Amino acid sequence: MSDRPLNFIEEIVENDIDSGKYEGRVHTRFPPEPNGYLHIGHAKSICLNFGLAEKYNGKCNLRFDDTNPLKEGEEFVESIKRDVKWLGFDWDDRLFFASDYFEKMYEYAVKLIKMGKAYVCDLTPDEIREYRGTLTEPGKESPYRNRSVEENLELFERMRNGEFEEGSKTLRAKIDMSHPNLNMRDPVMYRIIKKPHYRQGKKWYIYPTYDWAHCLEDSIELITHSLCTLEFADHRILYEWFLDQLGIYKPQQIEFGRLNMTYTVLSKRKLTILVRDGYVNGWDDPRMPTIAGLRRRGYTPESIRDFVNRTGVSRTDSVVDYALLEHCIREDLNKKANRVMAVLDPLKIVITNYPEDKVEWLDAENNPEDEKAGKRKVPFCREIYIERDDFMENPPKKFFRLAPGREVRLKHAYYITCNEVIKDEDGNIVELRCTYDPSSKGGWTEDGRKVKGTLHWVSARHCLDAEVRLYDNLFIKEDPEEDENFLNNINSNSLVILQNCKIEPYLKDAKVGDKFQFLRKGYFCVDDDSKDGKLIFNRTATLKDSWAK
Ligand code: ATP
Ligand code: MG
Ligand code: MG
Repeated sequence: MSDRPLNFIEEIVENDIDSGKYEGRVHTRFPPEPNGYLHIGHAKSICLNFGLAEKYNGKCNLRFDDTNPLKEGEEFVESIKRDVKWLGFDWDDRLFFASDYFEKMYEYAVKLIKMGKAYVCDLTPDEIREYRGTLTEPGKESPYRNRSVEENLELFERMRNGEFEEGSKTLRAKIDMSHPNLNMRDPVMYRIIKKPHYRQGKKWYIYPTYDWAHCLEDSIELITHSLCTLEFADHRILYEWFLDQLGIYKPQQIEFGRLNMTYTVLSKRKLTILVRDGYVNGWDDPRMPTIAGLRRRGYTPESIRDFVNRTGVSRTDSVVDYALLEHCIREDLNKKANRVMAVLDPLKIVITNYPEDKVEWLDAENNPEDEKAGKRKVPFCREIYIERDDFMENPPKKFFRLAPGREVRLKHAYYITCNEVIKDEDGNIVELRCTYDPSSKGGWTEDGRKVKGTLHWVSARHCLDAEVRLYDNLFIKEDPEEDENFLNNINSNSLVILQNCKIEPYLKDAKVGDKFQFLRKGYFCVDDDSKDGKLIFNRTATLKDSWAK
């Protein structure tokens, strides 16, 4: 357990344990609506809810808040289960679906009607809004507010049976149309939606609103601490009102600040637009801030949990720098990822004094941060590739890489000196002729002469072809939502595909999801699109850390 100070939620929980509230139990839940994939903001809620249960010997439910048939589906349920597991959490046998409680919710609604606390209203959604009033103006009572209990019961049953058109009737709580909190002005509990539900089929024509459903879900599951984001603070009074009227078990709702991140959007509605309209290639596109996207990009569960922990738990919303997320994956992969050599933009070199048919297998350390990672053999021969931008024909003073007459070190191999530049008819450089110093094997010489530049390279005879995908932010602005339409801030250069990369043969057996550091180029991960004989890599992050502590 860490020795950081308690966050405000842990303080509440510890007080409740001490005072014996809920008999000292801690029972939380993570309640996603299965209408999209989880994003990094959800990861915060997952770590918080499952983390509290872990820390206080409690339980955490995974509950699908599937009360609206319009956008929900099985694909989302499966992706959410997968992502929660992948993040390292387990709901054991505590997997629940709010839609399984529909009958029970209906019974509770009937109970409220019988108590004279709910009524069927014929106002249209627009009229309901208009009657609601504003923060400074009290609302107006609906002309249907004083229907008899009998009439309400009959109409509500007929709503359930599908006898009325969508939008023609609602069930509303009868509270107070001049209440200072607008949520208390006769909130809607049920509306008519004539669409099949992915789990309930055509059983229901009425669906509960969030406010009505959520408190019941928490109550039915005997949740102790119901954590939600700040925008629900104004709804807590209603959450408690419903449970108090029904006289049933009442959890406590606690609000915490939402996580936001620079250069991206964290809203399922907006992420859905990106997917639906083809701005990205699916929910797991490596540019997406979804868990599935981050996983495909090469993020590890450890790095995401570390990130979430560093962002803390607070009572205000926060915007976290994307650079912090990158910092966390670099820290993790620096320890875990083997270093290999890959040339992303190859330029051929012929080493003229190296024997034509000779091949040497040189020793290369896999990870200087981890001795147990061992060593591998890297082939060296007369023809190699280096990075095109590691050579300049007319270099400025501070350029320490290869240039005519200059000597550089090839990592794990020898010193080479460039003697000749070969060009095609258009003047493009197509090849370099170099000589090597046989006494510099391993990258040093006895005379101790200074060679500043060290380049990565691959053997042209042994290397494999690979595709490499480089990513940039999805949006050009730190806050893409600062403009009316966030789509205007899409970065049209967020993906660069390099088709002609050369990688060392050691990578031959790399599997989807395997992670490496390509020396000098960053952290890379084998992409799902890879096929036998053609590896595709995603750049997870560059090596340069811009996180300012
Ligand atoms: P979105 O606005 O992206 O649709 P949501 O809150 O509607 O998010 P849900 O599926 O209802 O999505 O969320 C499940 C849980 O995750 C909720 O308890 C919610 O408060 C929490 N959550 C969602 N987004 C964030 C976020 N950015 N930061 C922290 N918690 C979040
Ligand atoms: Mg929601
Ligand atoms: Mg939402």
